[in-house]
Amino acid sequence: MKQKGTIGVTTENIFPVIKKFLYSDHEIFLREIVSNAVDATQKLKTLASKGEFKGEIGDATVRVKVDKKTITVSDNGIGMTAEEIDKYINQIALSGALDFIQKYEGESEDAGKGIIGHFGLGFYSGFMVAEKVTIGTLSWKEGAEAVMWSCDGSPEYEMKPCKKEDRGTVITLYIGDEEKEFAQKQRITELLNKYCKFMPVPVIFGKEQEWKDGKYVDTDKDNVINKVEPLWAKKPADLKDEDYKEFYKTLYPMADEPLFHIHLNVDYPFNLTGILYFPKIKNN
Ligand code: ADP
Repeated sequence: MKQKGTIGVTTENIFPVIKKFLYSDHEIFLREIVSNAVDATQKLKTLASKGEFKGEIGDATVRVKVDKKTITVSDNGIGMTAEEIDKYINQIALSGALDFIQKYEGESEDAGKGIIGHFGLGFYSGFMVAEKVTIGTLSWKEGAEAVMWSCDGSPEYEMKPCKKEDRGTVITLYIGDEEKEFAQKQRITELLNKYCKFMPVPVIFGKEQEWKDGKYVDTDKDNVINKVEPLWAKKPADLKDEDYKEFYKTLYPMADEPLFHIHLNVDYPFNLTGILYFPKIKNN
């Protein structure tokens, strides 16, 4: 099986439109790609709990790596078959986004932000920073064959069989010259902390570091970005004042201790949980 085709859109090249629309928000690509990997992992767990997936789940983590020119996000989730890539990546994701953009083009800058998520533009947001994106994937389904999809930012993609032993998906973003800042460890750490700190599946980026002989060196322990439990999801009765302060400190290590906090836990008329912290304002 080797397939070439045109992604299901009518516009010559949608990617410049995506870039333009989401201009101020380029950094969200990582959140989108990592949440897809997290979703795929959770879907596999659901299939396992229902008895539909009978194999070993194995390492249910999402790994992010950065190299000089590439960012890769890999998971051991459900993966995709060639048919699923066709449906979810080639057809649906982009055509939905196109409708939306055509409808709102010319309106406020903010209109574009609503596209993400609603129309499955998530995956394509990778093209805001990458000149080429590849998907290497092996579905959980029995007898599935691994597939490699690649697209260089034009509406044309290529899809062919590939070698991949492990179930799951590897997304590789080849970072464009203008977006080089994103191929840096420091920047990726910042984005993962900003957007992925409370995702429900461990997200791993490199190794934990320790101070040794006058410099930081890698240990052999994985650096889990989201090891902090979301405190707001716990019952206020189970928490002490210290827990709230500690949590604030992990989020804002440089900040002073907050003045006080309010733990919100609303059931009606809508569901809302959260913690409001009131920071100390200097001088007053
Ligand atoms: P959304 O996540 O909002 O549905 P996306 O464009 O981000 O839209 O993704 C489109 C679809 O592609 C997803 O719904 C999912 O079916 C599939 N997909 C994307 N990433 C992965 C992945 N890492 N593993 C398995 N399926 C994926």
